[in-house]
Amino acid sequence: MRGVRHVHVIGAGLAGLAAAVALTVAGRTVTVHEAGPAAGGRCRSYFDRELGCRIDNGNHLLLSGNHATMAYLAQIGAAGSLAGPDCPLFPFVDVASGARWTVAPNRGRIPWWILRPGRRVPGTRVRDYLRLRSLVRLRGDVTVKEALDDGGALYRRLLAPLAIAALNTPAEEGLARLLGRVVAETLMRGGQACLPRVPRVGLSESFVDPAVAFLAAHGGAVRTGRRVTALAQAADSVTALHFADGTVDVADGAVVLAAPPPVAADLIAGLAVPRAFCPIVNVHFRMTADPGPAGFVGVVGGTAEWVFVKPGIVSVTVSAAHHLADLPAEAIAARIWQDVRTALGRSDAMPAVRVIKERRATFAATAAEEARRPGPRTRLRNLALAGDWTATGLPATIEGAVRSGRTAAELLLTS
Ligand SMILES: Cc1cc2nc3c(=O)[nH]c(=O)nc-3n(C[C@H](O)[C@H](O)[C@H](O)COP(=O)(O)OP(=O)(O)OC[C@H]3O[C@@H](n4cnc5c(N)ncnc54)[C@H](O)[C@@H]3O)c2cc1C
Repeated sequence: MRGVRHVHVIGAGLAGLAAAVALTVAGRTVTVHEAGPAAGGRCRSYFDRELGCRIDNGNHLLLSGNHATMAYLAQIGAAGSLAGPDCPLFPFVDVASGARWTVAPNRGRIPWWILRPGRRVPGTRVRDYLRLRSLVRLRGDVTVKEALDDGGALYRRLLAPLAIAALNTPAEEGLARLLGRVVAETLMRGGQACLPRVPRVGLSESFVDPAVAFLAAHGGAVRTGRRVTALAQAADSVTALHFADGTVDVADGAVVLAAPPPVAADLIAGLAVPRAFCPIVNVHFRMTADPGPAGFVGVVGGTAEWVFVKPGIVSVTVSAAHHLADLPAEAIAARIWQDVRTALGRSDAMPAVRVIKERRATFAATAAEEARRPGPRTRLRNLALAGDWTATGLPATIEGAVRSGRTAAELLLTS
């Protein structure tokens, strides 16, 4: 594929955009075909009519150790678009007991912070943290609960909330080795790799709009409202993309398929993909609040899990939210508001609110689904796969999506 000049990317989520940017940097011309009305997939911002303001499609938290994402942002000229504290800080509140604590790793690789009671989780001992070393070496299909739950404070007050957020899967089913990879690339590399980062303005302003502009400036294009309905195939290659209103010939080019797993399975006969998904519920309150030192607070002991304070809006995330998915929005909002009041120390009435349930937010990070994640290579020589659901070794995250796109691009450029 080294001689290929034009590459078609199917899907303008972060995997597709990262592939498109990498291919563009390598001198190829790229056309991205996106089924939806806008680029960004699950990682985008939009105007919500009910709230009357722009919101993100769910809160997205990054860590400075997400190196592929940081490189992608630098390539599209958006490195300065993230915000966050200068030091690694993770404030927590237990809304049942009212207890508050802040986990504050030191910046360097030697984790002396675990020796300081004021920097670690209350009620934990130094030796509790040493168990994390075995987490990063795990190989089998042990779940998060099996690997980490000793009934102690470290699990309840830090590891379980982090695991559920990172895997979007209940700890009883979540695959510990996927969490181990996240921990190896962040906490184990020292606080410098754990600086929490969120978009200064919005997801689209950081991750999407600059990428679309970068592609356009280099002769590429993102075409929205362009759903690929089938791939025409010869013996060992894709020859054309079919759309409802016509066909695009790709005989001399290459294709990155960066659509969600069910779509990929429809387009490529016999492709094994993850089939189980987990929901995320986000609740957005139209209000102004003090962002505190980190801009977010982790919540235990209630229904809310992470409360993000942004200009004019407070947004709450609940991952692996099977227990909320079938409740009416009003009931969810009322429950979460109680936690927000405690977390932010407020006593006012509930402001305008919007509850967004994303039932298939990410694939379930279980052993069974992990076994179904395909690599980037397909039996078709000019087709590579990308997406957070491919075999990245990471759970479904921005970092995984970006890496998958770069890997797919690399495969096409080198094969
Ligand atoms: C609510 C929520 C909160 C999250 N929080 C975090 C977080 O805090 N940190 C983090 O790192 N990650 C988080 N994630 C995960 C992150 O958003 C995803 O991992 C990432 O956005 C996935 O990108 P992707 O390109 O693989 O897939 P997608 O974003 O799903 O992109 C696939 C694209 O393909 C398009 N498409 C589908 N079918 C076709 C077709 N036939 N033709 C053309 N295009 C098609 C879709 O419209 C879509 O734009 C969160 C996800 C959600 C939903």
